[in-house]
Amino acid sequence: MSLSFDNSYARLPARFFQVVAPEPSPRPGLIRVNLELADTLGIDQSWLHSRQALELFAGNRMPPGAASIATAYAGHQFGNFNPQLGDGRALLIGELQAPSGERYDLQLKGSGRTPYSRGGDGRSPLGPVLREYILSEAMFALGVPTTRSLAAVSTGAKVYRQEVHPGGVLTRVAKSHIRVGTFEFFAARQDVEALGMLVDHVLTRHYPDLDSSEPPAIRLLRGVVERQARLIARWQLLGFIHGVMNTDNCLISGETIDYGPCAFIDAFDPAKVFSSIDRHGRYAYGNQPRIGAWNLMSLAEALLPLVAKSDPEASQIMQGILDGYEAIFEEAFAQGMRDKLGLCDEEDGDDDLAANFLEALSRESCDYTLSFRRLSDLAHPESQPDSQIGELFRFPESFTSWLDRWQRRVARQALSPEERQAQMYTHNPALIPRNHLVHAAIIAAEEEQHFCAFHDLVDALREPFRYSSGRREFALAPRPEQCVTQTFCGT
Ligand code: AMP
Ligand code: MG
Repeated sequence: MSLSFDNSYARLPARFFQVVAPEPSPRPGLIRVNLELADTLGIDQSWLHSRQALELFAGNRMPPGAASIATAYAGHQFGNFNPQLGDGRALLIGELQAPSGERYDLQLKGSGRTPYSRGGDGRSPLGPVLREYILSEAMFALGVPTTRSLAAVSTGAKVYRQEVHPGGVLTRVAKSHIRVGTFEFFAARQDVEALGMLVDHVLTRHYPDLDSSEPPAIRLLRGVVERQARLIARWQLLGFIHGVMNTDNCLISGETIDYGPCAFIDAFDPAKVFSSIDRHGRYAYGNQPRIGAWNLMSLAEALLPLVAKSDPEASQIMQGILDGYEAIFEEAFAQGMRDKLGLCDEEDGDDDLAANFLEALSRESCDYTLSFRRLSDLAHPESQPDSQIGELFRFPESFTSWLDRWQRRVARQALSPEERQAQMYTHNPALIPRNHLVHAAIIAAEEEQHFCAFHDLVDALREPFRYSSGRREFALAPRPEQCVTQTFCGT
């Protein structure tokens, strides 16, 4: 079989990218391929295990029809504008049209230097490759829009950081890799023609259904604001901290990208930061919604030259769209919280009920994920003991009055306890990619070439909403000595 590429991004003008061949890997080794994702993409499963596929995933041989380009972008990093970033350790090798009609980018990450590498080596240690595989696939299973992982390979080359690491390449799949920073790149060069082409490209590709009576740039902003607001609400509801919400890591398609320093909260704390380089907490859990708005403002600024001349009111319209972000976010978050708390109708005190629960979690440093899961158990205490997490987590004494209030609230609904619990179990995962498990899987792979922990974790996380006592080790909160306190960018 061969992959049938249709590379629409590579057909844009030459200033959008640089054509670069990947650097070959000396001794490629297959670690994992994603059969389910291959099906989605219409890739033959037997081909996935072929030598040809491995040569592609390792950057050794490009299949016919591949384009192999490093795309140009800029970005605000921790609030500071860098006009020249671009794929410094990644190559877009082509776009596949899935059987569903959806178009997907295939990208190699860690495949060697490009003209955008600046001081970097364009390589990736194996650790960040495995980390992204685990996290992105877990996010997908948790129902969050995200880039995905088709394959993880080892390269056989050494990668030098503070220490020497084995090298790896991740094959990443995304609806596209176009970022807020891609627009900022052309805006910084006052290249209005390129901006216009990029808007058209993105509207066709990601927003074909938006009302076409509005000017394209305004339509695009409206679409991206909506998707980003909903995306970040999903992160908040899961306790996911992205960690590096720079505008070059903010995708126009509304998918989560960049699993460098991200982490899931265990003990709940809205001020929580994991990333070693986020010294002032710009990207703390509780700041994420606000930073999302900031990134969208950067997008609006980049788009403004397209409309400002012809339409004096354009900036006001854009401001109105940006102002609408908060309401979309709040609505999505409130609905998500109702789902998590098992509320199928709306009452006045619901927002308070949710807010008080979060305050209590934070005051008592309760595990975020297990608290919601335990609440789901309590929705129907007589359900299967084997599916309950009571032996892993129980609410402290101080929750008694809140729990009474919640029981009275849910009792006012038409749902039976069984129904309520079944519904809550679909919104409150038992399993998340726990930082200590991710860490342990990476250490075993990097230091001892043992991949069992990695595979077991990826397998378990394909069904994050299913719990039985057999999956206990994946659901447990970390013991104090297991807690991961810092994460690193993995560059
Ligand atoms: P990130 O922190 O992953 O969002 O990357 C920010 C920028 O640094 C992007 O332009 C990357 O391509 C570039 N970069 C990160 N790591 C490397 C590396 N090892 N070699 C070359 N460029 C890199
Ligand atoms: Mg990035």
